[in-house]
Amino acid sequence: MIPLKSAQDLAMLKHSGQILAAVMQKLQKALQPGMTTLDLDLLSAEFIRKEKAIAAFKGYKGFPGTACISVNEEIVHGIPGTRLIAEGDIVSLDLGVNYQGFFSDMAVTLPVGKVNPDKLKLIDAARQSLELGIKQARPGNHLSDISHSIQSFVEAKGFSVVRQFVGHGIGTALHEEPEVPNFGIPGAGPLLKSGMVLAIEPMINLGGWEARIMENGWTAVTADGLASAHFEHTVAVTDKGPQVLTKL
Ligand code: MG
Repeated sequence: MIPLKSAQDLAMLKHSGQILAAVMQKLQKALQPGMTTLDLDLLSAEFIRKEKAIAAFKGYKGFPGTACISVNEEIVHGIPGTRLIAEGDIVSLDLGVNYQGFFSDMAVTLPVGKVNPDKLKLIDAARQSLELGIKQARPGNHLSDISHSIQSFVEAKGFSVVRQFVGHGIGTALHEEPEVPNFGIPGAGPLLKSGMVLAIEPMINLGGWEARIMENGWTAVTADGLASAHFEHTVAVTDKGPQVLTKL
């Protein structure tokens, strides 16, 4: 069963999402070449603490960081550490917030300084694919209408969609039913209803879709070593259409 949220729940989830979006905005401003991914992680912890919220990823299944920070060929679940961020990198920041038991989840991929045009196009396509996916998150559509809109857009641009990682329901837990793949045929899967809340999160690659997990057991990288981009919003399905909870 996919949980349905009440209006009160949605208000709390929006609050959580607004905190997260504000934290992301501050991190975006702070990002610069010469920082390590750990520097960025410590900042995210500080910003979340100031908002009197809890970092939702820290300790989740043993994840050691506050944020998942994935650089260039890293797709998702990058562990913050000594990796130096350099001009020309693209940095995916994925962060979750727990505010009084209500969870939100968001990711952005940011260019650092002057970045090669292929990577910029990839970032653009990932951002746009998320927007298209969000548009499908309305009552009466099927879940896979979201998936299909993302995949068809991304592949038409000549990029590929990661298969191994998918979006998810979210609310009073970080991960709830259903899974939200970024690929699939239209008109399949559960019918979307008002009150469902979904974390929609396309991860798309410059080269092939295949991924492998690094020896740390967490970080997913592209099998061909080419760049990857990731965008995510927490979105409520409502009678008035999709409502993005993680947008300021
Ligand atoms: Mg997520």
